[in-house]
Amino acid sequence: MSVETKVPETAHTVYGVKDYKSDLKSIWCPGCGDFGVVSSVYKALARLQLPPENVAIISGIGCSSRLPGYVATYGFNSIHGRAVPISTGVKLANPELTVLAVGGDGDGFSIGGGHIVHAARRNVDLTYVIMDNQVYGLTKGQYSPTTPMGDVSTSTTLGSIESPLNPMLLCLSYGVGFLAQCFSSDTKMLAEMIADGIQYPGFAVINVISPCPTFRGHDQFKTIKEVAVDLEEEGHDPSNFDMAMKVTRRPDHQNCFGLIYREDKPSYHARLEKVRERSRARGVYEAADVLKQFDV
Ligand code: SF4
Ligand code: MG
Repeated sequence: MSVETKVPETAHTVYGVKDYKSDLKSIWCPGCGDFGVVSSVYKALARLQLPPENVAIISGIGCSSRLPGYVATYGFNSIHGRAVPISTGVKLANPELTVLAVGGDGDGFSIGGGHIVHAARRNVDLTYVIMDNQVYGLTKGQYSPTTPMGDVSTSTTLGSIESPLNPMLLCLSYGVGFLAQCFSSDTKMLAEMIADGIQYPGFAVINVISPCPTFRGHDQFKTIKEVAVDLEEEGHDPSNFDMAMKVTRRPDHQNCFGLIYREDKPSYHARLEKVRERSRARGVYEAADVLKQFDV
């Protein structure tokens, strides 16, 4: 069951996909999966008719973290692993902005791995698009937290001896309220999930299996397509936490695509507004009242 994206009824088509494309020439390798992701970002923004000046895209470091440069919105290719906390700061400073955090598996699950849990428990209204290619592409193909055990990389020349991390299980355990997984080649599904994630009033994570043909081979696109599972067609119910957990624990969880879990709960800003109301009701402290607390 997918949750329909609701475009405001009054919306007219003002912005087309081309309005979100920047003039910066891409330096991604030909055939990189990330092309499908940026194309889906354009489609999602156009679908929601978001004015480019009302959108900010924040990334960390890595091949996929170049994405903000290719979109004609505000953007920041920031520091390694810090896309989520910087996005949180941007959103808190200007809640009117639509804020997307983007980056790769190394950036998000290794260097920045500790940030996802805090974004999830705060439930700040962000959409985090992770491009998982199972490798550190920018630094020439070292194994990453999601590289399958046994796989050869430039830093595991006899095969990785580490268990790969399970991003979906991790996000669900952390309490992420909107969780989807997509394949970069399926830009229809991916654009829909990004649009739905943007409209979700809280922390939305979209894990994208986005192959790196340069370091992990061209075959992946064909192989993944052959084994892809469409969760909606399988009858998956994303409102059911136990079913979502089962999906993340399937041996083929990396090939399961669609909305995995959605739970509507108050966002950080909704809770903050309640605190503001309480503060207004209590009134302003006089300086003397504050100083009294330190009377000895
Ligand atoms: Fe894409 Fe891999 Fe090339 Fe990086 S190295 S741009 S991830 S194909
Ligand atoms: Mg990577």
